[in-house]
Amino acid sequence: MQTRVLIIGGGATGTGLARDLALRGVRCVVAEMGDVNAGASGGNHGLLHSGARYVQSDPHSAAECREEGELLRKLAPQCIDDTGGLFVAVAGDDESYVAGFPGWCAAAGVPCRGVSVSEAREMEPEISPHAIAAFEVRDASIDPFRLSLENLWHARDLGCTYIRRNRVDRFDIEGGRIRRVVLRHVRTGAETIVEPELVVSASGAWAANVAQLAGIRIPMLYSKGTLLVTHERMATRVINRLRPPGNGDILVPGGTVSVLGTTSIRLEALDEIRPTMAEVDENVDEGAAMVPRLGTTRYIRAYAGVRPLIGEGGGEDDRGASRGFGLYDHARDGVENFVTITGGKLTTFRLMAEKTADLVCERLGVDAPCLTRSMPLPVADRCRWTEPGLSPREWAHRSGGEDGILCECEMVPRSTVDDILGGCREFASQPALRAIGLRSRVGKGACQGAFCGMRVGAHLYDEGVFDSPRGLLRIREFLSERFKGQRPVLWGVQLAQAELAEAMHCGLLGLDLLDEPPSDGGGA
Ligand SMILES: Cc1cc2nc3c(=O)[nH]c(=O)nc-3n(C[C@H](O)[C@H](O)[C@H](O)COP(=O)(O)OP(=O)(O)OC[C@H]3O[C@@H](n4cnc5c(N)ncnc54)[C@H](O)[C@@H]3O)c2cc1C
Repeated sequence: MQTRVLIIGGGATGTGLARDLALRGVRCVVAEMGDVNAGASGGNHGLLHSGARYVQSDPHSAAECREEGELLRKLAPQCIDDTGGLFVAVAGDDESYVAGFPGWCAAAGVPCRGVSVSEAREMEPEISPHAIAAFEVRDASIDPFRLSLENLWHARDLGCTYIRRNRVDRFDIEGGRIRRVVLRHVRTGAETIVEPELVVSASGAWAANVAQLAGIRIPMLYSKGTLLVTHERMATRVINRLRPPGNGDILVPGGTVSVLGTTSIRLEALDEIRPTMAEVDENVDEGAAMVPRLGTTRYIRAYAGVRPLIGEGGGEDDRGASRGFGLYDHARDGVENFVTITGGKLTTFRLMAEKTADLVCERLGVDAPCLTRSMPLPVADRCRWTEPGLSPREWAHRSGGEDGILCECEMVPRSTVDDILGGCREFASQPALRAIGLRSRVGKGACQGAFCGMRVGAHLYDEGVFDSPRGLLRIREFLSERFKGQRPVLWGVQLAQAELAEAMHCGLLGLDLLDEPPSDGGGA
């Protein structure tokens, strides 16, 4: 396969870059070892930063967040819930930080308005009665899945190719240029050879590993963050703790739920990106000081992501490390046609893509301006199923009594799953249950896949998508993924829910007893 640009990584940066290049008339291939947003873009808070979080520690990133946040509100409103946000200090918090906050915001150009504690509690009644100060800021929440999927759909409409479940495994370098890139299918091991004019690694936390394939060293730190999903939406706005960034100090509304986080734990390697119980406890304890009901509410899952931070190891606290991004032109390292973009924020993905595309175009001799700064992101009909609460509306609107519900928590009907199957087939890949979960609300509700996993799996058998015991393995794979997130929050009602799921899947279907058959490439 030949292409002008090979982009490694299908997160927000890689998909944003694919769209930017496609709009400039540059054809590209995106290779992703998992599926869209398999990395940090699928494991974050979903906060469209106003910049206020970084006004003291990293004013440059704060200003970037402010500018990009305002642009995205105009250009991708379908991905954003413009909630607004509050910063709240409680008794015992550092009062010098509270006093400095408005000045730091002003210096970084980040709008903030002081509000009285009683006004803040009227705006958000769940805020602690021990609050001592509050400021209103321009935070919002953003749906990272819809964002990346829509960027990818648009790029694809403009000629980009997406290859998922393929890991970039090897570079063949001759005369200081990458001539061939070997992709390996993660399940079957099948090789695909790509011959690109230029390679961009947008592989986030894996950037150092990918650079190593070219014998290049990128100094990076890995900071894991754990987040918790509550059973219900607990506030209208984003609520931040007004103190230097710490554990459990941001609560972001996301559709019908809220997301609490996050911790910051230094990782030495990327093999085990899982939330731990200690991190869950830490988030709950700290979060409850700001919003007391976080101490007693039901949590339906926890998840973790890794922040790639640019720099060498050293300091004790990774929260002080820059949230800026790094764009590396590896011509300086002796490999002419290789570029890495890493670090940064979800909020700044478009800017990261723009700067990278500028460098790529300069290298390829393409004279075309960036259009993502002014052209709205088209609403992709296929991505509408990621929107919470949309399925029941659509279903009621068009079912005519013929449709059936496959996921009761999130009310996802059979017709939705069929639509997504159609979309996956357009990517020329055999859809699995996990791919459907990624593109819809299936498995995201309180049952975490216990019922819908079986129902959607059975539907895939009815449709001939699954036709062997391999389908059961794909159901198990989907449930294992959901269980990973439930394990650290197994207490109270969610524990009973998980025991029921175990009885159904192990007791009834014997999914725990299945062996993985030899690979034949099916159900990727
Ligand atoms: C806990 C946490 C909370 C966060 N909260 C926020 C927030 O609220 N707001 C915000 O703005 N930012 C937030 N961030 C930061 C944000 O998530 C990241 O900056 C952003 O998602 C990075 O996107 P990316 O595309 O560069 O990297 P990623 O999303 O990590 O994408 C890299 C992709 O490359 C793929 N890949 C890696 N190696 C290979 C290979 N060899 N072959 C093929 N594919 C490969 C991976 O599978 C992955 O999908 C948070 C980060 C974390 C960890």
